[in-house]
Amino acid sequence: MAKCLICESEYQPFVDFGQMPIANAFASKEDIRNEYTFPMKVGFCGKCKMVQLVDQPDREMMFHENYAFFSSTSNYMKQHFKKFADSVSQLQALNKSSFVVEIGSNDGIMLQNFINDEVPCLGVEPSKNVAEVARQKGIEVVTKFFDLGLSEKIVQLHGKADAILSANVMCHIPYMHSIYEGVKALLKEDGVFIFEDPYLGEVIEKTSFDQIYDEHVFLFSALSISHLARMHDLELVDVAHQVTHGGSMRYTIAHKGAKSVSPNVAKLLAKECTIGLDNEMPYSGFADSVDRIKMDLIKLLKQLKIEGKKVVAYGATSKSTTVTNYFGIKSDLVECIYDTTPIKQNKLSPGAHIPVRPYEQFHSS
Ligand code: SAM
Repeated sequence: MAKCLICESEYQPFVDFGQMPIANAFASKEDIRNEYTFPMKVGFCGKCKMVQLVDQPDREMMFHENYAFFSSTSNYMKQHFKKFADSVSQLQALNKSSFVVEIGSNDGIMLQNFINDEVPCLGVEPSKNVAEVARQKGIEVVTKFFDLGLSEKIVQLHGKADAILSANVMCHIPYMHSIYEGVKALLKEDGVFIFEDPYLGEVIEKTSFDQIYDEHVFLFSALSISHLARMHDLELVDVAHQVTHGGSMRYTIAHKGAKSVSPNVAKLLAKECTIGLDNEMPYSGFADSVDRIKMDLIKLLKQLKIEGKKVVAYGATSKSTTVTNYFGIKSDLVECIYDTTPIKQNKLSPGAHIPVRPYEQFHSS
């Protein structure tokens, strides 16, 4: 039995991936000798409806001065965050006297839009290398992990925020209660906390098990987020589906009673109950579905090899770490991975040790 990180109820894991490496730990030949792994199991808490990893590596092992994920390498995501920032500016009528905080601001992909519009903002980003890139864009960044203590310091130094934003970060943080207390302390009375993360409904619907890796402690739904918000006297006031990262949800949270609640919230909660995200049922067949995908893919890769075909991969993503390691795919089946991120190039992929080569060599190979 495992203990829920949100409500401390006991639950049984519904899928066990075995030992997994850190998904972004691309390493040289010398470094892989001491490669860290952890047991990756996922469970559903029937009481607060949260889907979560049973064990999590220490946060400093994942987020540090060599963090390999630079948000701005994707032009598509640059456009996405421009639209995200514009929608927040409109919603909160932001201007030169407003204040925006982003949790997990990475290389400034979202906040650069507020800088362009002269809206005062602050990034919170513990991974020093990506934070430095944001600073070079003129963004003020605190290189610390966000929690209640840091939130109180931000209030002392800058005052309260009109908007607290976050994308693909909340699901990474196990200590949610300190985050929500921090948000509550930092948010103005009419402020909004808007965040987006991969959506549980789509993970279950598409068996997109590759959304599960060390950094993704939680897979959120409107059910689990509304429960968590209520625990802190906050309220889920809107939800909006996003196509990013294989299907995400944007959640808007406000102080209880401060904003009107969109009908989208009740609609999504009802839909989640209809597809059974509130009970054990959809999770029970998940592990078998993953194993069927595993059998099919391995069969295909072996067949291609017999036919003398060359198989390479494009994009050394965090998600692919779960696929290659759980399926046992090594360089005998996938010769190499091409990627545009310099910090990953000429290294070996985590656990599977497939060589990562620069994108420029993709067409000439
Ligand atoms: N928001 C960006 C995006 O969507 O492209 C970056 C997402 S990246 C997957 C997660 C980021 O969250 C990393 O830059 C990491 O350093 C940061 N992070 C992790 N834990 C954090 C915490 N407790 N407080 C603030 N940032 C955190």
